[in-house]
Amino acid sequence: IKKTVSVLGLGRMGSALATALVNAGYDVTVWNRTPKSLPGTRSVATPEEAFEADVVVTCLSTYDVQRPLLSKNVKTLVNLTSGTPEEARATAKWAQDNGVEYVDGVIMAVPQQIGTKQARILFSGNENHHVLDAFGEPVHVGADAGLAALYDLALLGIMWPVFGGYLQALALVGTAGVTPQQFTPLATDWLATVGTFLPEMGEATQHKNYETEVSALDINVEGLRLLTRASEEQGLDATVPQALHHLFQRAQSNGHGAHSIASVIEEIR
Ligand code: NDP
Repeated sequence: IKKTVSVLGLGRMGSALATALVNAGYDVTVWNRTPKSLPGTRSVATPEEAFEADVVVTCLSTYDVQRPLLSKNVKTLVNLTSGTPEEARATAKWAQDNGVEYVDGVIMAVPQQIGTKQARILFSGNENHHVLDAFGEPVHVGADAGLAALYDLALLGIMWPVFGGYLQALALVGTAGVTPQQFTPLATDWLATVGTFLPEMGEATQHKNYETEVSALDINVEGLRLLTRASEEQGLDATVPQALHHLFQRAQSNGHGAHSIASVIEEIR
């Protein structure tokens, strides 16, 4: 017999999760602040009614929203609400103190990918992934309950600057009439090349070995100055290149000018 599962939160992601559970053959109960019906599920009026299920999946906008909704009547909590590592650890502690089994997960996918192998669900703490395989591919990242949230923010922290850089680039080439269609194939190829630099850079930070035959920080500070100036010359906002210019410049003035870009981590730390 399959477990009964409740989903709290039927936003864009919560609705996709509940539908994936229905498709995986679970008996699904849903609760949402704004009453909403979802095919194949049973709606209840209060979170407490949803806690009768074997597993409760939460997918709310924030932990601040989620916290007051929970009670010790939850048997197993699979928390997929995004938050900081400290928020995840505090929830794990609350679960332990209240006899609730706890899994902390993060979704590295958009709602449209839920239920496919492309949806990677990172989880930490408890090694039992319960119903996560209905959503995609569960990957356990460690025993510390805060780890999934840490990986999530670290990975998104790569994505957002890439998006910011791409939009800056589109605005910049756009000043000369270059279209996204013309520019984007070069950008995606370039991004793949940039990705190949990461393992070596990561290793350099580990050994604090910042010698380089490739490209010194000095040259990159100058490049960021040029990008900032070119943006300003064209009347564009330069927040993105400027922020990196300032950071790299600080590393340079702290003696890393001849070192590799990896040395900037010293400034960040
Ligand atoms: P939505 O904005 O679509 O949904 C938010 C949900 O939270 C709704 O169910 C909403 O209820 C509920 N909610 C908000 N405020 C309150 C409140 N005060 N009390 C009770 N319920 C409340 O967000 P998503 O579904 O996109 O995101 C949900 C979580 O999933 C977030 O933590 C997000 O970071 C994470 N996530 C989302 C991804 C995505 O691509 N969308 C990707 C990966 C993770 P109501 O309908 O009543 O407003």
